[in-house]
Amino acid sequence: MAGVAENIIRIKSTLPSNVNLIAVSKTKPASDIQKAYDAGQRIFGENKVQELVSKYDALPKDIEWHMIGHLQSNKVKYMAHFVSLIHGVDSFSLLKEINKQAQKNNRIQNVLLQFHIAQEETKFGFSYDEAEQMLSSNEYDNLENISVVGIMGMASFTDNQSQIHTEFKMLKSYFDQLKKQFFSDKNSFKEISMGMSGDYQIAIEEGSTMVRIGSSIFGGR
Ligand SMILES: *Cc1c(COP(=O)(O)O)cnc(C)c1O
Repeated sequence: MAGVAENIIRIKSTLPSNVNLIAVSKTKPASDIQKAYDAGQRIFGENKVQELVSKYDALPKDIEWHMIGHLQSNKVKYMAHFVSLIHGVDSFSLLKEINKQAQKNNRIQNVLLQFHIAQEETKFGFSYDEAEQMLSSNEYDNLENISVVGIMGMASFTDNQSQIHTEFKMLKSYFDQLKKQFFSDKNSFKEISMGMSGDYQIAIEEGSTMVRIGSSIFGGR
């Protein structure tokens, strides 16, 4: 396999200009992240809070750290002072805790709402109805330290390309509907985080603005 720097440069050269690359560095050492950094990459994604915090402490401070994994409410406080974007907000109670910790840190925390689009039960996320209920509530309106900047989803782990297309299309349609219903006056609501090493080309065809790529950059885990 080519080196980390070559992979970053090759993948970036294939992405449309409106699509951001999140380099998913989970389980990989800081030295690998430094190689990607030296090749110009500035956005990294991690899925465990403890690992995210120790890498934040060890690496250059102009890195934008994204939390992409399933997040437990009791861990939010450890990263609330620096995390740039939380992709996996999948419950109202988690969103409220993020708001509380952002307030303590005097920040506005950017988040994405995660939707369940895969046929697999194991994946997390809101249904459209659940998200609609939350976004319509007064309690949501009173959360002053969060900004919902878009949505995120994961397709089924399958070789069936048409199924992946269908699932990403569904996420895009959720985005369009939410934009119309709740965010029409908010330019900041613009991100669709979808696509990983195995399916990011399909995700881009279906309207992704953020691809989360790990193994194609850093090798298998
Ligand atoms: C691990 C992970 C990725 C990256 O997966 P690859 O297949 O290695 O590109 C993307 N998104 C989430 C949520 C992940 O946990």
